[in-house]
Amino acid sequence: MDTQVISFEPHKKKILSRSDQIGHIEVDKVTISFGKGADLVEAVKETTLEIRPGEFICLLGPSGCGKSTLLNSIAGYVTPTTGSVLVDDELVKGPSPERGMVFQQYSLFPWKTVRENIAFGPKVAGEEEAECSSIANTFLAMIGLTNIANKFPSELSGGMQQRVGIARALANYPSVLLMDEPFGALDAQTRLMMQENLLSIWSEFGITVVFVTHDVDEAVFLADRILVMSASPGSVIADLKVDLPRPRVSEVSTSVGYLDLKKQCLDFIRAESLKAFEQQSM
Ligand code: ADP
Ligand code: MG
Repeated sequence: MDTQVISFEPHKKKILSRSDQIGHIEVDKVTISFGKGADLVEAVKETTLEIRPGEFICLLGPSGCGKSTLLNSIAGYVTPTTGSVLVDDELVKGPSPERGMVFQQYSLFPWKTVRENIAFGPKVAGEEEAECSSIANTFLAMIGLTNIANKFPSELSGGMQQRVGIARALANYPSVLLMDEPFGALDAQTRLMMQENLLSIWSEFGITVVFVTHDVDEAVFLADRILVMSASPGSVIADLKVDLPRPRVSEVSTSVGYLDLKKQCLDFIRAESLKAFEQQSM
């Protein structure tokens, strides 16, 4: 797999020219509950966090702790029961192409080709045909997909589909990229290449990334900062700075700093998973 990122200055400038201060996320005392009465589920509890423009954040926590719910509130798919989410000082009231989302399950349009999937956002936004085509070509090349532009999603491997999903989100020139366990279904080797590819794209674009995972290695490898969530109802219980050099390559995983952070995360996750297990057994 070609993990090299090609630089396309005009399109990159389109993102950077807006401001280098875009993608500022403020989650303020957010609680999110589902259902009512005896069926009430509190998924996220009084969570406050701030993500600075251009940061790469991993939200790490055991299964069912509320990671997707919190991410969905930033995306605008879920409205907080109390509290607020602001992106670039604007209250999030619903989904927007400004906040690109990549899910674990491949969510491409199956009836559209790779090129049409990527051009979809710009087309809906009212871009001219020629501009849509230019944007699609840019992102096809950037993610190394030019040779599969005319294929349909069903003809692609899981890793390829996720690359198209990332390209499709980026083609809207979002200020933040929200990713919900995007590599969770991939084999270990493909996953590592996808992680390296994502880091190159991120460093090229300087875009804010919020990446949800339950995988400690993935979080330590990718993040500037890891926000560890408690067992359900989820809230942030640790904010760990990842001071490992960039660009990161797989060899970093044997360094003392990496192993030390991994241990800290594992200790938190183990304690929280145990709590979740005990809650379920009650
Ligand atoms: P995670 O992504 O960390 O695995 P989720 O955010 O998916 O966790 O879920 C957190 C909790 O909220 C779980 O108990 C889940 O069952 C519940 N939940 C999530 N979405 C809904 C929903 N739409 N309706 C009811 N309960 C939900
Ligand atoms: Mg989830």
